[in-house]
Amino acid sequence: MRWMLMVLVLMTAGCAQDLSELGSIKPSDEHNLTKPKLEYFGVAGFLLRWRDEAVVLDPFFSRPSLLQLFWLSPDTQQINERMPSVPEATMLLVGHAHYDHLLDVAWVMNHKTPNATFYGSRTAGHIVRAEVPATRKFEDAEAKMAWLPGPTGPRPIARDDGWFTSSKGAIRAMPIQSSHAPNVTRVDLMGGSYNQDLKALPKAFWNWKEGQTLAWLVDLLNEDGTTAYRIHFQDSSSDAPYGFPPDLGDDRRIDVAILPVASWVNVKKYPQALIALTQPRLVVLCHWEDFFGGNLEDTKVLRGEKDEPAMYRIVRTTLPKDAEIVMPMPFSEIALPAIAK
Ligand SMILES: [Zn+2]
Repeated sequence: MRWMLMVLVLMTAGCAQDLSELGSIKPSDEHNLTKPKLEYFGVAGFLLRWRDEAVVLDPFFSRPSLLQLFWLSPDTQQINERMPSVPEATMLLVGHAHYDHLLDVAWVMNHKTPNATFYGSRTAGHIVRAEVPATRKFEDAEAKMAWLPGPTGPRPIARDDGWFTSSKGAIRAMPIQSSHAPNVTRVDLMGGSYNQDLKALPKAFWNWKEGQTLAWLVDLLNEDGTTAYRIHFQDSSSDAPYGFPPDLGDDRRIDVAILPVASWVNVKKYPQALIALTQPRLVVLCHWEDFFGGNLEDTKVLRGEKDEPAMYRIVRTTLPKDAEIVMPMPFSEIALPAIAK
C-alpha cells in the first residue's frame, strides 16, 4: 500500500505550479544553436553530439499522467515525434532504473539510436533486455563504477579501468556510485533490484526498481585524446558525497554540472557540497518541470516540489563568479561554455 501513499501525496500536492512560481528565474529557451551544445528532452534527458559521435542521457518522453502510473507503457508516438533519429549516438547512459528515466530506453535503442551501446546498472540492463535483443550491447556500469569507501566519503575512488570509451574514441564516460533522494513521501517506495532479464517491461511504476543509482563523468575528447570538456551528470539528487566525481589527479575542472532539482530538499548538503568541490563553469538544472501528463506546450513546475527558487539561489551563491546557471525549457538547447584554455 505504500505506493498508494505516493500517488495520494502527489494528488493532494495539487496541480502543477505555474512558471510564475519561479519568481525572477526565467527558464532558458534557446534553439538552433551551433555546436557544441546540450539538447534537453525534459526531465533528465539530454543529447550531446560531439565530433562524429553522440551520447544520449536518460531519454524520457512519455510523461504518463498520475493514473497511468499503474499501467505504464512507452508513448511511442511522443518518442517518435520528439526525438530525432541519432544513428551517430554510440553511447546511451542512464543513472537509475525508475520509469521516468528508463521507460523509453528500449524503444529509443530499437528505433532512434541503432548504434548505441547501453550503459547502466545491472537492474537497468535486466529491465531493458525485455525488449532489446541480445545482439545489442549492454555494459554493466556497476563493474566499473568509482566507489565510495563509506557514507561519509570523503569522495568516491576511481577504479584503475574506470572509463568506458565510445566506439570511435570521441567520448568516454565513468560511472560513479551515487544514491537516490527519497521522494515526497520520504519513504523509499521504488527501491530494489532485479537479477535476471525480464520478459516484459514492468507495468506498475513501483516495479521500475531503482537498482544502483549512478552519476556519470562524461569527457568529450579531442582527436589527440585530451579532454575538451568534462561534464558531470546525475539524474537524482543525492546525499553528499554520493555521486561526487573522484579525484583523477589531472587537475581538470568540471566544465558542466547537470543537476536535478526534484527532491533536492530531501537530501543532505545538496547541491552546495558538490558545487563547492567541482567549481563547474556551467550548471544546468534539470528535472525541475512537472512530468505527470500535461501539455508540453504549457510547461509547469514540478508538483510536490518545495521551493525551486531556493535551490537556484543556493547554486548561485555557491558557484564561482565566472560561472553560469541555466534552467532550460524542455526541448530547448544549452550552449556549452567556450573550451577552457
Ligand atoms: Zn528516481
